[in-house]
Amino acid sequence: MKALDELTFDNRFARLGDVFSTSVLPEPLAEPRLVVASDAALALLDLEPAQAEDPVFAEIFSGHKLWADADARAMVYSGHQFGSYNPRLGDGRGLLLGEVYNDAGEHWDLHLKGAGQTPFSRMGDGRAVLRSSIREFLASEALHALGIPSSRAACVIGSSTPVWREKQEQGAMILRLAPSHVRFGSFEYFYYTKQHDHLKTLVDHVLNLHYPHCLEQPEPYLAMYKEIVERNAELIAKWQAYGFCHGVMNTDNMSILGITFDFGPFAFLDDFDQNFICNHSDHEGRYSYSNQVPIGQWNLSALAQALTPFIEVETLREAIGLFLPLYQAHYMDLMRRRLGLTTAQDGDEMLISRLLKLMQNSGVDYSLFFRRLGDQPAADAVGKLRDDFVDMRGFDIWADDYQSRCAQEDQGSDAERRARMHAVNPLYILRNYLAQQAIEAAESGDYEEVRRLHRVLCKPFTEQADMDRYAQRPPDWGKHLEISCSS
Ligand code: AMP
Ligand code: MG
Repeated sequence: MKALDELTFDNRFARLGDVFSTSVLPEPLAEPRLVVASDAALALLDLEPAQAEDPVFAEIFSGHKLWADADARAMVYSGHQFGSYNPRLGDGRGLLLGEVYNDAGEHWDLHLKGAGQTPFSRMGDGRAVLRSSIREFLASEALHALGIPSSRAACVIGSSTPVWREKQEQGAMILRLAPSHVRFGSFEYFYYTKQHDHLKTLVDHVLNLHYPHCLEQPEPYLAMYKEIVERNAELIAKWQAYGFCHGVMNTDNMSILGITFDFGPFAFLDDFDQNFICNHSDHEGRYSYSNQVPIGQWNLSALAQALTPFIEVETLREAIGLFLPLYQAHYMDLMRRRLGLTTAQDGDEMLISRLLKLMQNSGVDYSLFFRRLGDQPAADAVGKLRDDFVDMRGFDIWADDYQSRCAQEDQGSDAERRARMHAVNPLYILRNYLAQQAIEAAESGDYEEVRRLHRVLCKPFTEQADMDRYAQRPPDWGKHLEISCSS
């Protein structure tokens, strides 16, 4: 374990030079205070949980102090936002403070979001509010605990600095960790500005540091692109299987590592709804729950376009063609496991789509359905769950087919089935209304609820004593909350 002043920096991205990022110092927030920290994320930096309580910790991660070896920078990128190309975005309110390597030899980017204005701020104030910082913190750590690749969040620091959104709010900063902050939009920027030599530098940087095994392939660039396709297929399969809606799948919000990245008005499904749109400024539903799959592919095509100087168009096309089959394989694998099935059979796809249709028509809670299905032997579980369906007869037919399907394989003992299903079906998910309650308490200065919710979500599959209220359907006021898109 290390003290705060013992972190070891190796700023590989900053060393690429001023073409790729610009030196900027964080602008401090007033009266910084620790809102919440993640022990598990701090451990990635070899920091002890207790260090978050040190007043110096809050000072550092609110921009008052910086290590001499850090090299704070705003990264340049562009990207497709809602389908239209925006030629210049870049870090308008977040800074890559530097890259730290830990005792295990891993590199982690320290990215401070809400750190003040940069040359990329355009009309923005460079700030982030407490509300959105808490949401990103909880989501990053909750996704990780669910086994869904994500950037991590080490802490949120609150302050008395006022920030204006629809109303006055409190300024905050979140310390985000990821092995890289390069996005699809980073490549698009150098491609569309026709700086192809710099584009090559960036491609080589990512290849050497993050996809080194591809160097052994006959065509390393193509091998890397294929792996990016694969990682995105698996990531989006996990989002769909667990009902996570990202909300703003612009290419500047797509990590080159295939991890969940840049959280906005995200949501987990409460009631199952294929057409759910979590971003209320997304009037056409471009980023609706079910559209995340074709949009994932669309984004990969946008990245492919930026790689055309180095990879044949036809081979890129073939690689994009891998996305849907890979997605489907991962999705089916997860959904079978969510249903407690241990083998793959031909009719499974139909069994799953029929279930989802019934759930959609009755507004059944997506997460709790699977959890309850695993609580008891199949026959008892479906007997209880049928009450949630308006079309009980339809559900009974499905339930009969489900039980016959279970009978076609060795499901093990009741206890084995239960343990197997509970290991993939979370009891606790980050419902919008739970986040909202924690945010309201935090805005009035009480951080206990955020911390408790974070602790619960770190073990989503394990039933925790006295935490029943985190495993319920939302109350009426908490359904379909309009989450402000400003952040
Ligand atoms: P986001 O919607 O958070 O992914 O941000 C899209 C772009 O807008 C990025 O270039 C951000 O850096 C920039 N941006 C968002 N909010 C602000 C803000 N308050 N001040 C400056 N830039 C911002
Ligand atoms: Mg973004």
